[in-house]
Amino acid sequence: MKTVINRCIHCNIQYTWQASGIPDDRYKKASRDYCNECTIAINEALKSIPKKREFVYEITNEVTVDQLRKWEVRRDEESKQCCGFGKLKRVFSSLYNEELGGKITKEVEGMDEFYGKTYIYSYWSNKPEDIIIKVEREKNLETGELIN
Ligand SMILES: [Zn+2]
Repeated sequence: MKTVINRCIHCNIQYTWQASGIPDDRYKKASRDYCNECTIAINEALKSIPKKREFVYEITNEVTVDQLRKWEVRRDEESKQCCGFGKLKRVFSSLYNEELGGKITKEVEGMDEFYGKTYIYSYWSNKPEDIIIKVEREKNLETGELIN
């Protein structure tokens, strides 16, 4: 568990914020920017405002897994040339199934004509041929419409 001492950007007190690890009740109300008291006040104020958008993943065939793997390699190479290390990636918790093995899920940022899109692909290690590719889409919660 990593805890960080921050200064609240509203009331200016110093407070401890938990940046990683299993949630600890002592710090769970605080956020990166606000102390416990201010976070609670903000959350209460925001309860009256409904969420308007959410991001959902939808199965797609607009790209192939070969394309995604090439983008992964290209992005890592570009990042190593630029910064000296590979691009930081979101890590998905692993699942395990006796019959299917481990489930591997990877996130890939689109490149070329798909720049700006985020894809994930996943498969079970014992069935690598059954790959599912999904694209992140923005959903308007008021109309149910997918925006991009
Ligand atoms: Zn505060």
